[in-house]
Amino acid sequence: MTTRSVDCLLRNACLSSGEIVDIAIQDGFIAQLEPNLNLTAKLEVDASHCLTLPTFVNGHLHACKSDWRSFLPDTFDFSSVGNRFSAIAAVKRQYTSEEVLARAEATVRLAIRHGTGALRLFADVDADAGLRAFSALLELKKRFADWLEVQVVAFPQNGVFSAKESTTQLLTEALEMGADVIGGIPWLEPNESSQLAHVNLVLELAQRYQIPAHFVLDDTDDPTSRTAEMVAIKTIETSMQGQVCGTQSNALAFYDAAHAARVIRLFKQAGMTIFSNAHVALVTTAQRSQPAPRGHAPILELLGAGVPVATAQDDINNPYYPFGRNDMLEVAQFMAHLAPLAWGQEINQVLEMVTTTPAKAIGLEQYGLQVGCKANILVLDAPNWFEAIKNQAEKKLVLLNGKIAAQTERKVTLNI
Ligand SMILES: [Zn+2]
Repeated sequence: MTTRSVDCLLRNACLSSGEIVDIAIQDGFIAQLEPNLNLTAKLEVDASHCLTLPTFVNGHLHACKSDWRSFLPDTFDFSSVGNRFSAIAAVKRQYTSEEVLARAEATVRLAIRHGTGALRLFADVDADAGLRAFSALLELKKRFADWLEVQVVAFPQNGVFSAKESTTQLLTEALEMGADVIGGIPWLEPNESSQLAHVNLVLELAQRYQIPAHFVLDDTDDPTSRTAEMVAIKTIETSMQGQVCGTQSNALAFYDAAHAARVIRLFKQAGMTIFSNAHVALVTTAQRSQPAPRGHAPILELLGAGVPVATAQDDINNPYYPFGRNDMLEVAQFMAHLAPLAWGQEINQVLEMVTTTPAKAIGLEQYGLQVGCKANILVLDAPNWFEAIKNQAEKKLVLLNGKIAAQTERKVTLNI
C-alpha cells in the first residue's frame, strides 16, 4: 500500500488552542489538519511547535499614501497639523499612477513579508488625485492576484461636497472601473446636511453597484461630530446590515456616556465592524500636553456591547502617521496597550482583531485554519500568542495559496 502524497505538508504546527497538528495542503487549500498525518508531500516543512495562524488581515490601509517622506524636504515642519495636511494636496497633484504603483507595491511586499494575506486598500479619488491612485491600486491588485486578496476602495478623501469640485463623477467612474468597495468620510463635510448627503450618496452608490461601504467616522476629538450615528441609522434604513464598516469613530470617546451608549447600540443593530487604528490617533491629535484626551474609540465598551472591533495599519510614513512597517503584529501590540487588552486570556481578543474579525468584516471566503480553507498560513517564531506579541516574534514562514511566499530568520549573536 502506498502512502498518499500531497503538495505540501506542514508538520508540528501549534494552533492558537495549543493543539499540535500536521497540515496537508493540496491545490492551494487545506486538505487535512490533524496530528501525525500519515502522508508524504512534494514539500515538507517543520513548524517546530511554533504558533501557526491564518495569515493576518489588514482591513484599512491608504497604500497610495505610503512612504511620502521623499516628496517633502528634510526641513519640512511636521510639528504643525495644518502644515502636514496641506502637504497632502500638493503631493497628490504631483504623483503619477506609475509612481503610486511603485510605492504601493513595496507596501504590499512588506505586508507579505510580515504575514498578511489580505488587504483592503484605500485609493484617494478626488480633484487632487483624480483616478491616478485608484488606477494604480487596481493594477496592483492584478499583479498580486496569484498570491493574496487585495480589495480596492474608491475613497473620496477630500469629502464629496466640501471639495472644490464635486467628486461624485470621479467616484462613479471608479465604480465603473471595478472598485471592490466604496469609501466615505462624512465627518469632513462642513455641516450636518452635507454630512447626511455624503452618507446617502455613498450608500446609494454601494447599493447601485452591489458592493460594500467603508466609512472613516468622526476621526476627531470634537464631541459634536456625529456622523457615526448617521451611517448606522442609514445602514439600518437601507437594509445594508453587515455590509458597512467604520474606521476610527474617535469622537465616541468625547460624547457623554448616554449618547455614546446609544451610538454603540446603533453600530450593533447595523451589523457594523469598527476598525480602531488607535496608534494613528495617538500621534495625529493636536493636543501635546498632559493629561491628553483618550483620543480613540472606546474599544472595551464596543466589545462589551457585542460590536466587532478590528484594528489595521491605516497609514505608513505619511503626514497622518510617521511610522508603520505594515506589520499587523506591531499593530496588535499597540492595540493590546491602547484597548487595553494586555493581561491573561484577554490578549486573545487582540488576535481576533487582526485575523478572524477583519476577515469576516471584509467578506473573505474560506478564511481560517480548517479543512477546505485557503492555505494562507503564518508560522511565528513563538510558542503562543502572548509570546508572539511580547517579543514581536519573527515570521518564520508565510504560505499564500499553499505556496511559500516569505521566510525569515532572526539571527542574534550575543558575545557574552
Ligand atoms: Zn484611514
